Amino acid sequence: MSCACLTPSWLEKVMLSIGAKDSELSNSTLSQSNTLEQHKNTTDIKFENDSELNPLSNQTTLVQGGFLYTADANNTVIADSWVLIKGSEIIAIGSSDDPIPEHDKLVDAKGKLLLPGLINPHWHESFVAPCHESADDSGIKPTAYSNGGDIAALGAMFGFISGVGQKLTLDEGIAIARWSMWTQLRSGTTALGDVGSANKADAMATAAIELGMRLRVSRWGSDIMLPDGTGNYKTIADTQEQTNDWVALIENWHEHSSGLVGAMPSVMGAFGSSDAQLLSLAEIAHKFNVPYATHLAPLKNERAAVEAVFGKSPIQRFDDMGLLTDRLLAVHTAYASEAEYQRLIATGVNICHSPAHYGMLGERTVSETGQLGRFLKDGVWVSTSTDGDISFIGGMCEAMRGAHLGHNEAQNCNTACPPTLALKTGSLFGAKALGWHDKIGSIEIGKQADLVLVNADDYRYKLGNHPLRTYLVTGSSHDVNSVMVAGEWLVKNGRSTRFDEAELFADYEKAVVSARARIGGPS
Ligand SMILES: [Zn+2]
Repeated sequence: MSCACLTPSWLEKVMLSIGAKDSELSNSTLSQSNTLEQHKNTTDIKFENDSELNPLSNQTTLVQGGFLYTADANNTVIADSWVLIKGSEIIAIGSSDDPIPEHDKLVDAKGKLLLPGLINPHWHESFVAPCHESADDSGIKPTAYSNGGDIAALGAMFGFISGVGQKLTLDEGIAIARWSMWTQLRSGTTALGDVGSANKADAMATAAIELGMRLRVSRWGSDIMLPDGTGNYKTIADTQEQTNDWVALIENWHEHSSGLVGAMPSVMGAFGSSDAQLLSLAEIAHKFNVPYATHLAPLKNERAAVEAVFGKSPIQRFDDMGLLTDRLLAVHTAYASEAEYQRLIATGVNICHSPAHYGMLGERTVSETGQLGRFLKDGVWVSTSTDGDISFIGGMCEAMRGAHLGHNEAQNCNTACPPTLALKTGSLFGAKALGWHDKIGSIEIGKQADLVLVNADDYRYKLGNHPLRTYLVTGSSHDVNSVMVAGEWLVKNGRSTRFDEAELFADYEKAVVSARARIGGPS
């Protein structure tokens, strides 16, 4: 359930304070950074003919020598691979034993892992929120996600977040979204699923297109909250207004001509939506045939709170509205009853989780019920995601590590989520959750050329035989070297090919100063 905008100024009681501010970095840290920068250059790839390949052209690029994990149905691995790309599409795959095909451009990927573009289907753009964390742990208190979840506090916070986008100007929203989404693209995420953000849908979709990455953009429905113990709900937003926003979202962005953006209306969850709102979501999702998303059965305390008001469980509410379908993306689903568990499998609901984020906030989503690991063992395509927060908390490398280590531990067996399965939770399964698995999610002939190259030739990789395992266990988002989406390199040797990173950040900083002045906080 962990979501964005956990800022102390907005909801002081629930904030977890960790980390350090840039201003607190010591001189020694800065000089270390320079050393790292110099080291990084030794891993740089030479991009032959450095001009961009036009994705619409018939030119071909050969990415040669990478250690390829395809994330396809057979878990195909090729230690010394080549992948041929024409325009935006993968047209051939082979190994060094096969004849090298003719090509216009060559990228030498020796010493790199070659992975499919990573897919993060559950994320919240939240970088407008001010960050007041301190560098020590003295102020830490349990968050609203800890100890089973404070449903009233979370309802108030999420209701507030759902209105933040309306208070931003479009320019502010774009500047904030560009920086926020860049941190994901830089980390190897080529497709994001917005499950409700503190930003405008139009700003986020525009930023995605400008950056060149894929996005299912959303508008977060949240029209009620459940105050403690009253047995009633409190209306906090206009249901019809949020319904109108969904229609506009779909009309503006569904199957957008850029080929990068689609719509995904969402609701916060069973404790944030009236029956009228769930009914509207069902009608719209079915009418326009779009994927749609929610947090579903994410917290231990949610069931009792929802049953006290609606007389039925969170999952039953969604089922009764016809919302359990194979177009639903359901996040953090760890607290289903046995009958509900079977029903989720039978209806083909896309289950997603954020295993690297739970520990940060004190949620026990992986280990308490073991249900997410059980879904995986039962063959369900459980996807992995980062969730959102007010600062960069990791990309898909860290999320997939959470899946690999977390499920193996919780299930007491190292076959619960081996590395190639963990990779699929962060690629193919995420593509399915976003309704895009026909075109992205794995490196296969006929799919879009969304690729990630990861530095994998340093001391960590000398002794192991399984470089993906080494990357998941010892790597980080920062090890991502280069990223391609639809045949175009968007990141080369850690740098954007379209933007100056410092300028992106300066634009972000300027935008948040004016935006924060008028956003306010939850009452
Ligand atoms: Zn979330």
